[in-house]
Amino acid sequence: MKLDRLLAKHESMGRNRARARILEGQVRVDGVETRSFDHEVDRFMKVELEDAVVQTPQRLLHVMLHKPIGVVSATTDEEHPTVIDLIDDPDRNTLHLVGRLDRNTSGLVLLTNDGRWSKVLMDPARKVPKVYRVQTRDPIPAEAVAAFAAGFYFHTEDLVTKPAELEILSECEARLTLHEGRYHQIKRMFHRIGNRVTGLHREQIGTLALPADLAPGRWRLLSKEEASECG
Ligand code: URA
Repeated sequence: MKLDRLLAKHESMGRNRARARILEGQVRVDGVETRSFDHEVDRFMKVELEDAVVQTPQRLLHVMLHKPIGVVSATTDEEHPTVIDLIDDPDRNTLHLVGRLDRNTSGLVLLTNDGRWSKVLMDPARKVPKVYRVQTRDPIPAEAVAAFAAGFYFHTEDLVTKPAELEILSECEARLTLHEGRYHQIKRMFHRIGNRVTGLHREQIGTLALPADLAPGRWRLLSKEEASECG
């Protein structure tokens, strides 16, 4: 929102009066005087008019959470606990999810109230890698590596999945890196090679790995550096 609009709205002074106050140098954004009435401001910025605070900045939150099995990746659910229920922060209701996991999948989930950050992380053009540990019902054949790299045709969406890196760890266990996120994607991919996923856990998103000491159900705030490097 433009600074003059915010000021006019909050102080009910009308746009012309707001512009005059700005031009007179009476307004500060994040502590810095600005005389530009079309200065873009968002809810994370502090706006002051002389000695009065016109807008208190909202806390910018970037959260990593270890989602346990059984918890829903949603902000509300009538039947099951949600990831928001696990976060004991007074501003938890401002958060939205940066991508989802199925209810029976565990692992790293990111939440934020920073729309720009989530947009960047979810931008399909950036192909942010997501790393999963997969357990399967049947042994994974060596040829699966090439099949996952070539992609699978998904009839419902009429597309071929982007090249995915499959690393076979043991007979029925693999690490899989995806560069997109389609509905039940990993389960559908293994189904296509006649297998079945029996366990799924997300280990990493971009550069952010789930720390070994973050137990299932626990969360923590990301530092500015972690959040900016992650995408
Ligand atoms: N693929 C799936 O099938 N489920 C998930 O939760 C994530 C990726």
